[in-house]
Amino acid sequence: MELMAIGCDGTYPSANGACSGYLVKAEGACVLMDCGSGVLSKLMALMDPADLDAVILTHWHNDHASDLLVLRYYLQLRRRRVTLYAPLDESPLRKLCECSEYDLKDISNAEEIGVFGVRTQRTSHPVPCYAVRLNHRDKALVYTGDTNRWEPLTEFCRGADVLICDATFRRESWHEQLPHLTSSQAAELGRAAGVGKTILTHFQPDSDPKSLVAEAQEVYKACEAAAAGVWLTL
Ligand SMILES: [Zn+2]
Repeated sequence: MELMAIGCDGTYPSANGACSGYLVKAEGACVLMDCGSGVLSKLMALMDPADLDAVILTHWHNDHASDLLVLRYYLQLRRRRVTLYAPLDESPLRKLCECSEYDLKDISNAEEIGVFGVRTQRTSHPVPCYAVRLNHRDKALVYTGDTNRWEPLTEFCRGADVLICDATFRRESWHEQLPHLTSSQAAELGRAAGVGKTILTHFQPDSDPKSLVAEAQEVYKACEAAAAGVWLTL
């Protein structure tokens, strides 16, 4: 299984960057997790987006979903259709994606996409949001989507080789009502779940990734910042 962070910015994209989008490949199967602002342009440099086996959308916030609107046009011009697993809530963006270009399916029922086994877990976020676990052979990858502290995630992430984890805030700025984790909480989750490597992500463009990574590594050494455009083999 191979993973590339296509975009890993939170809230809005950095200059020439992109918001959340993670491409996962194995045996020719290809899945995109989230499709935030800037993702389609970078995806097109890598592959024909119409060849995706599926898009898995963790939730309908703009920084995770907005490029679905232009991906729809891309598919429309080519008369192609892509399966889209997403929360079936009342989001206005979801209604815009109820179209012939997307075969819209309930993310909570996802079990298998091509060669990948799929499991999902609700997270703690202001709108319905799901963490995603992809299994291929003996390897497992978890992407949290967006979340604050949420006890069920520990079991959900148990033993994964790689955890891509929301790590938006520094320790000092966190409180219970925020929609995201701190980098040290992401590290705590990785340690508690015994994951091989925690990839910290969803940094806001004006935040300082080095200090976020340093705070995380005080808790658990096996943490690093997401690096957009780099393939990682599991
Ligand atoms: Zn969100």
